Amino acid sequence: MATDPAYDLVVLGCGAAGLSAAVSYAAAARASGRAARIAVVERARREERGGATRWTSAWFRITEDRRLDPAFIEEMQAASGGLADLESCRTLAREVGQTLQFLEQNGVPLTYFKQPFANRNTGGGLGMPVGGGASIVEGLAGVIERTAGARILYETEAVRLSLSGAGRVDGAVVRGRDGLLATLSAPAVVIACGGFEGNAEMLTRYLGARASELPVIAPTLKNNTGDGLRMALEIGAAAAGQFDMFHGEPIDARSGKPDAVVYAYPFGILVNDRAERFCDEGRDSFDSTFEEIAYEIWRNQRQRAFFIGDQTTLAIESVQAIVLTDQPPVSAGTLRELAIELALDPGALERTVAAFNAAVGPGRFDAHRFDGRATHGLVPPKSNWAFRLERPPYIGYPLTCAITFTFGGIRTDALARVLTPSGTVIPGLYAAGEVTGLYYRRYPAGTSVLRSATFGRLAGAHAARAGAA
Ligand SMILES: Cc1cc2nc3c(=O)[nH]c(=O)nc-3n(C[C@H](O)[C@H](O)[C@H](O)COP(=O)(O)OP(=O)(O)OC[C@H]3O[C@@H](n4cnc5c(N)ncnc54)[C@H](O)[C@@H]3O)c2cc1C
Repeated sequence: MATDPAYDLVVLGCGAAGLSAAVSYAAAARASGRAARIAVVERARREERGGATRWTSAWFRITEDRRLDPAFIEEMQAASGGLADLESCRTLAREVGQTLQFLEQNGVPLTYFKQPFANRNTGGGLGMPVGGGASIVEGLAGVIERTAGARILYETEAVRLSLSGAGRVDGAVVRGRDGLLATLSAPAVVIACGGFEGNAEMLTRYLGARASELPVIAPTLKNNTGDGLRMALEIGAAAAGQFDMFHGEPIDARSGKPDAVVYAYPFGILVNDRAERFCDEGRDSFDSTFEEIAYEIWRNQRQRAFFIGDQTTLAIESVQAIVLTDQPPVSAGTLRELAIELALDPGALERTVAAFNAAVGPGRFDAHRFDGRATHGLVPPKSNWAFRLERPPYIGYPLTCAITFTFGGIRTDALARVLTPSGTVIPGLYAAGEVTGLYYRRYPAGTSVLRSATFGRLAGAHAARAGAA
């Protein structure tokens, strides 16, 4: 097996986490007058680099004055029933401002916007990079490409970690495009190669039956095959996060577009393939319910659901801003015709809509606040935004659940160092981003890119300090 010239840092994965680690290491080395010999290992070709980060809009759950949602820690604690690593959550909250500054300083411009129909503790607003996650990949990879001594090795996959006799991680074994193994030696390795959403075998092992029916929400997620988790577990790392849970989203089943999510369902009804309602579409705003609705579609509704609306739905100002599919809705003059177009039982859809319409209570409809306009005596109820579906043409979107990322991963401390089950740090090994386990039960949307960049940045900075010591 070939051994490449020694590096100071080897990073496995070229998304937000890996690139942040490489760039922050390079900056720290530069500040202390040292060269930085860095290898970033990426399974994909250059044109497809960047994993999930490449496709995300990268909405950031931050306030206008650049603080993480002040309810984040409380929410993580409540959702996880105390299982979440609150020290890491507090670190994320504390470090978010510096992460945003770090992105800007490295060629990633940011913007802030008000998201319609959302109900965030951030004042209804969100941050994001101009150009989404792709601009994080381009910006940070550009810095690495301009850094002497640093390189990105494409079409190269990490296979296993290399250990010194005493158990320190001293490099990684990779398989290049020639199919041969080589060892990249370095005193520090950062695992940042995403979750296992692209691996049907692992999905089935952890999520259970029918996990292989979950399409990935964007094409390059197929490269995230859980290798980082496997490699770390092989050398005795501990696991964290909920292994039988994942972040999924309700996408248009007809679309091949990445991120073809249909968030507008609070302004109509959702039915399953028997044309029956199965959830409270107005329990909360879409940004708080889309994950559980997607999960329900996969787990209990045979991966098929339909969002049904009418001309009142379409007339809601800005409603198109929360419909991300590239496909127009199926449209028909009567519910019967719509059902036929959607391959639903026409009589069943007519009965479902009639029962829903009869149960809609009084009150003024207001899409921009919890209007309390609910159904009465209907199971399941609709708690807000209930209006009668009676203005043709009717519309329908066929939906399915797509997987965005898995929750189970490697356990790290708040400095991104990989831990054993007893809490001991494995020397020389860091992990950041999706490959680490942070979330339980519920994902507070708009925090995954931030945690990837933040803990990647912290890993790179710590490895540089350790290398200089
Ligand atoms: C469509 C979509 C929308 C999203 N929306 C949001 C949002 O609005 N806000 C938010 O915060 N989050 C969002 N997310 C989630 C977020 O984008 C990801 O969780 C985050 O970008 C993960 O970053 P990462 O660096 O950990 O992993 P990735 O960006 O996936 O990078 C992992 C890299 O590792 C490489 N790799 C994998 N295995 C190997 C191996 N064995 N050897 C070498 N390389 C390997 C992959 O090719 C990839 O480049 C979204 C995700 C998607 C897909």
